[in-house]
Amino acid sequence: MGIAEIDLHSALKKYFGFTGFKGLQEEVIKNVIEGNNTFVIMPTGGGKSLCYQLPALIKDGTAIVVSPLIALMKNQVDAIRAVSDHEGVAHVLNSSLNKTEVRRVKDDIVNGITKLLYVAPESLTKEEYVEFLRSVTISFMAVDEAHCISEWGHDFRPEYRNLRHIIKRIGDNIPIVGLTATATPKVQEDILKSLGMTDAVTFKASFNRPNLFYEVRPKTKNVDADIIRFIKQNEGKSGIVYCLSRKRVEELAQVLQVNGIKAVPYHAGLDSKTRVKHQDMFLMEDVDVVVATIAFGMGIDKPDVRFVIHHDIPKSIESYYQETGRAGRDGGEGHCLAYYAYKDIEKLEKFMSGKPVAEQEIGHALLQEVVAFAETSVSRRKFILHYFGEEFDNETGEGGDMDDNVRNPKKQVEAQADVKVLLDTVKSTNEKYKSKDLVQVIVGNSNALIASHKTDTQPFFGIGKDKDARHWMALIRQVLVAGLLKKDIETYGVLRLTEEGHEFIKHPRSFMMAEDHVYDETADDGIIT
Ligand code: ADP
Repeated sequence: MGIAEIDLHSALKKYFGFTGFKGLQEEVIKNVIEGNNTFVIMPTGGGKSLCYQLPALIKDGTAIVVSPLIALMKNQVDAIRAVSDHEGVAHVLNSSLNKTEVRRVKDDIVNGITKLLYVAPESLTKEEYVEFLRSVTISFMAVDEAHCISEWGHDFRPEYRNLRHIIKRIGDNIPIVGLTATATPKVQEDILKSLGMTDAVTFKASFNRPNLFYEVRPKTKNVDADIIRFIKQNEGKSGIVYCLSRKRVEELAQVLQVNGIKAVPYHAGLDSKTRVKHQDMFLMEDVDVVVATIAFGMGIDKPDVRFVIHHDIPKSIESYYQETGRAGRDGGEGHCLAYYAYKDIEKLEKFMSGKPVAEQEIGHALLQEVVAFAETSVSRRKFILHYFGEEFDNETGEGGDMDDNVRNPKKQVEAQADVKVLLDTVKSTNEKYKSKDLVQVIVGNSNALIASHKTDTQPFFGIGKDKDARHWMALIRQVLVAGLLKKDIETYGVLRLTEEGHEFIKHPRSFMMAEDHVYDETADDGIIT
């Protein structure tokens, strides 16, 4: 063990009381200390904060930490102060500070006391702050929740777009550390480009959560009764039920209470006193269940949440992953149960209709992935990890049997000939259609787009009309997960052949396909309010 390593371990022990690093932390920290641009992709709970906190405490100067969440900044500052001799070791700089307080923050920085300065991105647009930060020693800049920079992330913040420019103004050679729990390849690319750090060393942890069990059930009008039954089967365990609307949160919380379940509602429409109270009741286990909108969960660190139920399907796989990720943080059981009806997707689409076109396209593409996830008969875990750019083998991978589709597999049929038809059609149409239109070409239904390309006059038009559109849609999903096709993200989902896909066309091989679930027939109108 080199001296530097011993020092890192003793610093870890001294400041945080931890005896060892978690996952990739040590490598990341060394890279940050060396002054390199660093990109950290770790799922929530992976221990990202330490990746900049420890180097900040060790290095000369002040590290600036950009974070969009004021509440989280305050928590972190409190935590750092608790392990340090000097309260000035960490500060938050934002618009709520009065003149005297700002003075004090500046003095502590100038005097070399402050090692971590937390700022919201909008505070950094203040000329006065930028001027000041230019004049002091900055060790590095950490951009937390870096996916906020990408329109393809689930939480786009326009202020993040200016960060690169502002960092440059504060100092020419300030190393940047970007951190995120969003792992889609597109978002990663956006982050590296937007922060101007394509040279960054990237550290990506696996997103597999082996202890979580994934399940999707059809959403019928009996969904509430089904949820009650599930919770009663899990009596005494902590769980979260997510709903889309505040109204639904209130109603469902009441229904649960009436049925003898200790539950409280949580959403941004409640006053802050009630919110804090309900959150505490959940943390202290005075209640078992929180029924909540997505406002609940940010920074909640309850390790023994045993189930997360989605009464309404979320608007992206990222959101689903984040929200289900709150289950089983202690490594114990975590059941993730989502209710799905296609009508909910249409509802989410409607919400987007007033938004700018590009935003709608992105929202639509993200939703299509949710549909694919819900309807797939492929392993849910494999699907999620594939979405995050990670290959997963259910035979050898941890948690390989932990989802409904693997436990109760659908009958599989040989689909070699159909895959060949599908890939041939992608090729013959010069890779210009999204799934929906490609399926129409295969089953021989023309539309304006297809007619404009004259695809409907081609000999292969309607080549697969002996099977219905649903079959071809399901096949496309499975072929995507198998990596024979990929979706082009720049064009919001145009299908392209991968190298493997080209190979398949040349040498077709066996391809086992399972029929997808048919959920929308069981949907019911009066469920979502
Ligand atoms: P993230 O920001 O990736 O969601 P956090 O930084 O909040 O994760 O860390 C998650 C939890 O893991 C925190 O409770 C933190 O104290 C703990 N933790 C981080 N690093 C270590 C470590 N090396 N040893 C033990 N616990 C750790």
